[in-house]
Amino acid sequence: TFEVLVIGGGPAGASAAIYAARKGISTGIAAERFGGQVADTMGIENLISVPYTEGPKLVSAMEQHVKEYDVDIMNMQRAEKLIPASRPGMPHEVRLENGATLKARSLVLSTGARWRQMGVPGEEEYRNKGVAYCPHCDGPLFKGKRVAVIGGGNSGVEAAIDLAGIVGHVTLIEFGAEMRADEVLQKKLRSLKNVEIITSGQTTEITGENGKVNGLNYTDRKSGEQHHISLEGVFVQIGLVPNTEWLKGDIELSQHGEIIVNDRNETSIPGVFAAGDATTVPYKQIVISMGEGSKAALSAFDFLIRNSVD
Ligand code: FAD
Repeated sequence: TFEVLVIGGGPAGASAAIYAARKGISTGIAAERFGGQVADTMGIENLISVPYTEGPKLVSAMEQHVKEYDVDIMNMQRAEKLIPASRPGMPHEVRLENGATLKARSLVLSTGARWRQMGVPGEEEYRNKGVAYCPHCDGPLFKGKRVAVIGGGNSGVEAAIDLAGIVGHVTLIEFGAEMRADEVLQKKLRSLKNVEIITSGQTTEITGENGKVNGLNYTDRKSGEQHHISLEGVFVQIGLVPNTEWLKGDIELSQHGEIIVNDRNETSIPGVFAAGDATTVPYKQIVISMGEGSKAALSAFDFLIRNSVD
């Protein structure tokens, strides 16, 4: 039985494991793929004190850092069921896909999230070569260039407003007849001179040349006409999906499927904490996930010293 078991090996999980292990308590970390979304990232320019790094490099640095401590790393292990403790201080159980069960007196859930993809030709091929999902991360790479934002919900419209201040021109493409973002955001977007808004637009393909995005095709859903736009970047903003399907029914989730946490990273189950992109924390970023992971581990430690069952 672990004192702290971390599920998920992205920045939140790595940080939680390090903070827990530094308290001298038995710590394990089980992850489907150590590194998480960072493993899929090219350049990272907003991890404070590291002006530039690359995903795989940061993943190996995180792993090395975790290995400095006595942490039981269980990579390639997918959790599929949480069985909460019968009473606080007693062990929780996490069932793995391979049939094994792990036990721990406290848990940190940090299974992250994944960007919803459009599923059109060119999207996968040009990922990180013009196709981007995170305006805070990749916006500055498109300084002065032409980009499209796919999606007219709050995140899409916020992204378009943000990008309009950096890039040369933004085309926002919304699938429905109207954008769904809050009116105040729509109004702000409409006031910007370098933004064009297309509604009833269905993106059908991302085109490219020499390994880079050079445009996109969309269908006007009203007229049925096909159009091509020449541009250098496409930001897909049609939703971030938390990896919490396995927790449904066992822990309180928001309407978007995020694990509901308070400012101490407590969940609806005593002794179960959560951190990072899988939670309701606003703004999903590496530096935020690392901070949240450390908070969750400190809260778990606090829980353990208050609920010893010896
Ligand atoms: P994740 O990184 O998503 O890690 C989740 C972990 O949980 C993984 O180890 C995964 O395998 C594991 N897992 C999932 N389900 C299970 C399960 N059932 N059982 C066991 N393990 C499971 N942020 C920045 O700050 N700067 C950037 O430049 C930047 N660029 C990005 C570029 C791309 C292409 C993407 C996709 C994201 C980018 N982000 C960036 C966002 C950043 O990567 C995330 O905010 C951060 O990785 C979230 O950390 P996390 O630990 O919460 O989750």
